Amino acid sequence: MIPAILPTYNRAPLTFVRGEGAWLEDAGGQRFLDLGAGIAVNALGHAHPALVAALTAQAQRLWHVSNLYRIPEQERLAEALVATTFADTVFFTNSGTEATELAIKMARRHWFERGTPRARIVAVEGAFHGRSTGAIAAAGSEKLTKGFGPLMPGFVQVPWGDHAALEAAVDDSTAAVIVEPVQGEGGIRVLPDACLRGLRALCDRTGALLILDEVQCGMGRTGRLFAHEWAGIAPDIMLVAKGIGGGFPLGAVLATAHAAAAMTAGTHGSTYGGNPLGCAVGLAVLGIVGDPDFLADVRARATRFRQGLEGLVAGHPEVFEAVRGKGFMLGLRCRTSNADLVAAGYRERVLTVPAADNVVRLLPPLTLTADEMDTALERLDRAAAGMATDPVG
Ligand SMILES: *Cc1c(COP(=O)(O)O)cnc(C)c1O
Repeated sequence: MIPAILPTYNRAPLTFVRGEGAWLEDAGGQRFLDLGAGIAVNALGHAHPALVAALTAQAQRLWHVSNLYRIPEQERLAEALVATTFADTVFFTNSGTEATELAIKMARRHWFERGTPRARIVAVEGAFHGRSTGAIAAAGSEKLTKGFGPLMPGFVQVPWGDHAALEAAVDDSTAAVIVEPVQGEGGIRVLPDACLRGLRALCDRTGALLILDEVQCGMGRTGRLFAHEWAGIAPDIMLVAKGIGGGFPLGAVLATAHAAAAMTAGTHGSTYGGNPLGCAVGLAVLGIVGDPDFLADVRARATRFRQGLEGLVAGHPEVFEAVRGKGFMLGLRCRTSNADLVAAGYRERVLTVPAADNVVRLLPPLTLTADEMDTALERLDRAAAGMATDPVG
């Protein structure tokens, strides 16, 4: 019999009833250290006082009016994002997938309006851009697309790290290239800065728009407000979601005036996108995460955490192969099963997230303290030790 909830997730048998900072508590009062942060969503941890205050104040004033009217919170958040990024303009969504959808539309419409239509969008193997029909066609993997055809045409994927294939795939018939600066679901694979710069140059040469999917790696996750800042380049279009709402559903497409020029009145919309609740929270998140001092502190704490993880890996060579990632977007490549290690973590009350390529992801709240790092390392150490002696299936 099919359960009341469509069984598209294999859920862990854990139920949390409250959270504070990097901690989640179950009904029995057991406290779990949350190194998953709801898949990089709770950027400031659970129940951050500034976010709770912003949400409750807005909830008492106004929830929803629709985009038929001006929304001051939306305008303020858009202006703040424009002021702190490459972007000239912003469209708000409720999720990362919706941001992907708009990016696809924006890129194609851009070329349509220029009178030289280009439809083809080049993506990278192992990518994840969401679960809509467009987003699965973009990523293209069997795992995402099997049984859902016919897929939206116009996407090609090049193998990860294959520069020649990328050069061959992107030409003056390419509408856009879409890539994650750090692949999340793909297993915390960091696109080297030099590759990102090369990709920018390739797009400049061919006119293809550069779409960066920073849904997971953006909003301070790598220690910069957006991951592409490390490479000193800017995209034409950027997708943001997850961390920007700190746990409230919020996403955005940021774009240059050039890339967005064809998106005139009536070409796109969203009933809920940019609603007062989401934007009030987003403003509070950006106010904290966008502070250069906060980001410098994230980099310092993340460096410390990574050093600890290097020690963990060195101490369990039979379990781990390597640490990879950037800032607080970290992956432990496993020799044993990553799923087993995540399960062993549950028993030690530390939450991590599996990813492709046999990686365990660590995406803690950006506020993770030194003490919490030590606790995390102790619990991960016990989880790894349990793996070696008592493998779980
Ligand atoms: C999570 C994710 C998405 C999809 O976001 P949803 O909010 O789940 O729709 C898209 N791209 C990347 C890189 C993601 O990590």
